[in-house]
Amino acid sequence: MATVRIENLTKTYEKVTAVDGLSLDIADGEFFVILGPSGAGKTTTLKSVAGLVDVDAGEVSIAGTSMEGVEPYHRNVAMAFESYALYPQKTVFDNLASPLRSGRTGKYSAQDQQQRIEAVTTTLGIDHLLKRLPRELSNGQRQRVALGRVLVRTADVYLLDEPLSHLDAKLRAAMRAELKQLGEMSSTTTLYVTHDYQEALALGDRIAVLRNGRLVQVGTPYEIWHDP
Ligand code: ADP
Ligand code: ADP
Repeated sequence: MATVRIENLTKTYEKVTAVDGLSLDIADGEFFVILGPSGAGKTTTLKSVAGLVDVDAGEVSIAGTSMEGVEPYHRNVAMAFESYALYPQKTVFDNLASPLRSGRTGKYSAQDQQQRIEAVTTTLGIDHLLKRLPRELSNGQRQRVALGRVLVRTADVYLLDEPLSHLDAKLRAAMRAELKQLGEMSSTTTLYVTHDYQEALALGDRIAVLRNGRLVQVGTPYEIWHDP
C-alpha cells in the first residue's frame, strides 16, 4: 500500500531520450495503466520505479519517501518483465516459493507459502503445473508463472510489464478479468504497462498515455475513451 510519485523523470540512452520530463501521481491502491506504442518509454518508467535504471534527472517517491539512493532490493516493489526470468532448474512450485523465502520480505511460514501459492496458481489456472520445470511449459504458462511470482508476495507496489502479451486471445481475455478482480480486491498499488488500448480501458482505474517519453494524456477510462 503506497502512493507512487514520479516527478520530472528523464532518462537518455546515448542519443535516445526514452523518458522526457515525465510526472505522474499514483494514488494508494490505484490500478494505474501506462499505455503507449513500442518505444514510448513505458519499460524505462517502470524500471525507474524499481530502481533498475540510473535516471538522468527527476525523482521517484514511494509512500512519500524519496527513492534516491535506495537500492532495488530495499524498495518494496515486485516487478514482472515481459521476458519472464524463471529458474530453469526449479519446479513451478519452487519458482513461486523463492520470492517468499528470500529477500527483505522473506518471512512467510511454510504453511503460509503453501496457501499463497495455491491461491495464486488457482487464480491463474496453473495449479496443475506445480511439479513441472519451466522447459516443460508453454510460453503462455511460463508467463503466468512469472506473473504468479509477483502476485504471490505482498509488496507496496506491483510493477507489471505487458504480463499478458504471450497469451492467446481467449486466455488473455480470461486473465484480464482475473486481474481486474484481483485489482479490485487488492489494496496494492499497481503500475501496469501495455500497448493494448482495449486492455488499458478494461483494467485501469486511470490511464496515462505516453508517446516519445512524454505524457500525452492522463485520465479515467471514461475520459480517455471520450477524448481520444
Ligand atoms: P517501451 O517500453 O514503451 O517500449 P522503452 O522504455 O523500452 O519503451 O524504450 C524507450 C526508448 O529507449 C526506445 O527507443 C528504446 O529503444 C530505448 N532504450 C530502452 N532501453 C535502452 C537501452 N538499454 N539502451 C539503449 N536504448 C534503450
Ligand atoms: P519491451 O519488452 O518493453 O518491448 P524491449 O524488448 O524493447 O522491451 O527491450 C528489452 C530490453 O532491451 C530492455 O531491458 C531494454 O532496456 C533493452 N533495450 C531496448 N532497446 C534497446 C536498445 N536500443 N539498445 C539496447 N538495449 C535496449
